[in-house]
Amino acid sequence: MAEPTTTPASEHQADVIVVGAGPAGSTTAYHLARAGLDVLLLEKTSFPREKVCGDGLTPRATKQLVAMGIDISEEAGWLRNKGLRIIGGGHRLQLDWPQLASYPDYGLVRKRDDFDEQLARQAQKAGARLYERCNVGDPILDRSGRITGVHARLGEEKTPVTFHAPLVVAADGNSTRLSLKMGLHRRDDRPMGVAVRTYFTSPRHDDDYLESWLELWDRRGPQDRLLPGYGWIFGMGDGTSNVGLGILNSSSAFKELDWREVLKAWCASMPEEWGYTPENMTTTIRGAALPMAFNRQPHYTRGLLLVGDAGGMVNPFNGEGIAYAMESAQIAAEVIVQSHARSTPAQRELALRRYPKVLKDTYGGYYTLGRAFVKIIGNPKIMKIATERGLPHPLLMRFTLKMLANLTDPTGGDAMDRIINGLTKVAPRA
Ligand SMILES: Cc1cc2nc3c(=O)[nH]c(=O)nc-3n(C[C@H](O)[C@H](O)[C@H](O)COP(=O)(O)OP(=O)(O)OC[C@H]3O[C@@H](n4cnc5c(N)ncnc54)[C@H](O)[C@@H]3O)c2cc1C
Repeated sequence: MAEPTTTPASEHQADVIVVGAGPAGSTTAYHLARAGLDVLLLEKTSFPREKVCGDGLTPRATKQLVAMGIDISEEAGWLRNKGLRIIGGGHRLQLDWPQLASYPDYGLVRKRDDFDEQLARQAQKAGARLYERCNVGDPILDRSGRITGVHARLGEEKTPVTFHAPLVVAADGNSTRLSLKMGLHRRDDRPMGVAVRTYFTSPRHDDDYLESWLELWDRRGPQDRLLPGYGWIFGMGDGTSNVGLGILNSSSAFKELDWREVLKAWCASMPEEWGYTPENMTTTIRGAALPMAFNRQPHYTRGLLLVGDAGGMVNPFNGEGIAYAMESAQIAAEVIVQSHARSTPAQRELALRRYPKVLKDTYGGYYTLGRAFVKIIGNPKIMKIATERGLPHPLLMRFTLKMLANLTDPTGGDAMDRIINGLTKVAPRA
């Protein structure tokens, strides 16, 4: 680990301010601190705190946890999963995560209540200075419009404070007030998802596969109606299951239905012995948005970098956001560290402008394919045909799993990897 910066930093001054200590913010702060930068990590809530999520981590996210030195052993309370079980069209298929040089062959589950806290504490251990109950408001701008700090309200008393740094990272999630205040609005030409979830005490709590249901039915009217979403059942290993569903705005039913009611109806249709009944529900049903496929850009402007949901990084193919939050954080930290070492403002700026470019090179083509996929499956009839015809073919489904979970080796992979990598290379990086 590099020596911490020798510049004496005042309490509210740093090399970098990171706003928000979700997976994106804590990962950014961790990598910056490890490289010796002085980092302030400002979080409006205090840990442990609830975050609405499916709590499912694929091998991509697992890899990021390993890179942060988090103890992901079973003794430390992590439940591993071997792959994905897909249910739909009268079929039930269990697919293992692929064997790859680049990613582990297992995923994990962990409730966000303490998942996020573990990441924040790891960033603290690396040297980041975490302020909890620190609600960031307006950016502080210089005369050229460049961000040089933030105003915040600190503690129970909501004491007004200011923090200063030459660089600020917006890791404040989908609502990203900071980006909005810097004039960065959501792009309407990008897909958006909504997901709702709850927990039940259940005998199915220690499932070693993540379970995904490709068909959701609305059985309340005179005729059953197939809905444009998918459901999940993730055993949490702690006596409970996380049960939820996600929907895309590319479908006409998106605004029409009360998705909490749809979740209740879906749960009511499940076998009683699974225990997904109202009396076993341990929390209320809560939902939030899934900002996908770079729905906020540019990812760098005037001293501000966007990571995770703030930059709309959720994978449009499967709704996974944690891995992309952590990966974009790692990329941002690497760019910032390089820029920090440059000797002139012009050189530093040149280095920072690499960030959006690296993001586009990494995900741009893949997200473009994801946007096309979202348009197609927005039609439940097409989704039904694809499910019925696709699921009986294990080879096709193995390809689909690699595609949807973005799990390939960039070099030296198998034929499926080469096809997927080829497609993402030729697709425009928008
Ligand atoms: C129902 C649902 C299920 C999901 N399931 C999964 C799943 O199973 N797997 C998966 O990978 N992804 C899942 N996602 C997506 C995933 O939750 C997000 O992509 C992920 O949380 C993004 O991380 P982030 O750090 O960018 O943002 P967030 O996790 O939203 O963190 C933002 C942080 O910023 C803080 N903050 C906000 N405003 C301020 C402010 N003004 N000042 C200071 N701090 C602030 C917040 O308190 C929060 O701690 C799901 C999402 C939903 C809604």
